Amino acid sequence: MQYVSTRGQAPTLGFSGVLLAGLADDGGLYVPDSFPTFSPDEFRAMRGLPYADLAARIVHPFVGADLPFETLLALCRDAYGSFTHPAVAPMVQLGPDLWTMELFHGPTLAFKDMAMQLLGRLFDHFLAQQDRRVTIVGATSGDTGSAAIEACANRDRIDIVILHPKGRTSEVQRRQMTTVRARNVANIAVEGTFDDCQDLVKAMFADAPFRRDMHLSAVNSINWARVAAQVPYYVYAALALGAPDRQVAFAVPTGNFGNILAAWVARRMGLPVAKLVVGSNRNDILARFLASNDMSVQGVEPSLSPSMDIQVSSNFERLLFEILDRDPAATAAAMAGFRATGRMIVPDVAWQRARDTFQGFRLDDAATLAEIRALYGATGYMADPHSAIGIAAARAHPSPGVPTVAMATAHPAKFPDAMEMALGVRPPLPPRLADLYERPETYATAPNDLAAVEAEVRATVLRNAA
Ligand SMILES: *Cc1c(COP(=O)(O)O)cnc(C)c1O
Repeated sequence: MQYVSTRGQAPTLGFSGVLLAGLADDGGLYVPDSFPTFSPDEFRAMRGLPYADLAARIVHPFVGADLPFETLLALCRDAYGSFTHPAVAPMVQLGPDLWTMELFHGPTLAFKDMAMQLLGRLFDHFLAQQDRRVTIVGATSGDTGSAAIEACANRDRIDIVILHPKGRTSEVQRRQMTTVRARNVANIAVEGTFDDCQDLVKAMFADAPFRRDMHLSAVNSINWARVAAQVPYYVYAALALGAPDRQVAFAVPTGNFGNILAAWVARRMGLPVAKLVVGSNRNDILARFLASNDMSVQGVEPSLSPSMDIQVSSNFERLLFEILDRDPAATAAAMAGFRATGRMIVPDVAWQRARDTFQGFRLDDAATLAEIRALYGATGYMADPHSAIGIAAARAHPSPGVPTVAMATAHPAKFPDAMEMALGVRPPLPPRLADLYERPETYATAPNDLAAVEAEVRATVLRNAA
């Protein structure tokens, strides 16, 4: 399997190259040069497989010759063995044609574990094969940092250093990062904002000697391997509900468009997906695009669903490339115009193509709290604010006769303040994290200063090299 950049100016790479590179050299995103497909009979033969085995079957065509199937299967079994539910991604029925699929039974209680647990192991495998090490650095305001740390902790070939803004993440989120006891993990509380942390990470990558000496790398949401590792749960849900002999629809609480893009990929691979509903909070750039071809940037406003507070959805470029008939020049031009003016010009014919599959939906904070309350009152089910937006999106856009699965992306205990606002109770942490508030924390504190942060990163790397 070969990968090309959406902007057409970067070298073609195989799977391991794309995994380790992340972003393409020309600023574009890697996509497969063609999509593998499964026939209805092949899908039927996958019914009833354990999640990890299904994941290996679905992901393997994207890996191609870079990894024998048996090796990938072993990595998948190891990755999904860390999930606490035996089904890995169980479904709960909420209405006659409405289901929710829980993607939060991994170590950090949010859906990013579904891909990150496999990614950490894939990184380690290819790095060992090439006898290399990397240092992953990243900035986080919340969820992504802990998912990356859990994915990389105790991997042989990786050091990971995550920056967070001191005193500006929730206590659950900070503790999920700072209580992981592994010698290859370091956390730095930066005396500054999330933007300062992001600027420091960018500055470290821009410091060429430092970048080279430390073998800097990233595991951000634009890595193709993350998208690929998210495809299996859409297949898993659809097979359980009768696919390929019956259609299914999905509703997905969306931020960077990575999760829902994986549903689109599943459809391209032959899964009968009737439609995809994009759930947004008040940061509704995608809903505005789908409703009226208005892809224009507005300021990001904080909401009760912080993982969806985005200005620009980075993975959207992959869909743009497809609806522009895979024309890299047109994609690069649309992205350049977007960056320059804050508004993306998408030809109507391409916009209509997006609307053939996607519908937009928006829910503000007050309506999100009302949805959590109504759902709990009617069914006893507790949905976190992100998942509640997905469930509301599914309800708002039903497909007659077609089951709709709303993706539940976080455990309600991750957002205790919002749950208390909605229901008057704080949901307890599940057993694996029940003692989170008692666990000792380890982190360094640094001023908002490049030299100080680089010194901390260097110390971590040297400690582990010793
Ligand atoms: C990351 C995240 C999302 C958004 O997913 P994208 O792939 O960025 O669209 C939604 N909900 C939760 C809880 C998340 O952590």
